[in-house]
Amino acid sequence: MSVPKKAQTIEEKQYLVRFKADKNSHLHVLDHDTCLTKCPDKICTIFCPAEVYKWEEIRMHVGYEGCHECGSCRIGCPYENIKWEYPKGGHGIVFRLA
Ligand code: SF4
Ligand code: SF4
Repeated sequence: MSVPKKAQTIEEKQYLVRFKADKNSHLHVLDHDTCLTKCPDKICTIFCPAEVYKWEEIRMHVGYEGCHECGSCRIGCPYENIKWEYPKGGHGIVFRLA
């Protein structure tokens, strides 16, 4: 009997992740003008490991469906401009072990 190969690369580990997205976002950018005028580096687009935040010309798009629930954006936004909650029960990321 063969032993399943353990996921080692990021790509293999990402393959083990599944999402059950809610209809409503659990992440909210509170003030898009703050992003536009005070945050030239848009650092949430850098520190989020799931690339949830994408700057679209004048506002931040939030692809909450792919959030890994790491919590970094609760502390990483220098303007405390992201309201972060856990997804509603039964929704969000699902980790499978391998
Ligand atoms: S880090 Fe905060 S203020 Fe900066 S772009 Fe992201 S949400 Fe906006
Ligand atoms: S909790 Fe983590 S994965 Fe989710 S949006 Fe924030 S930084 Fe990205």
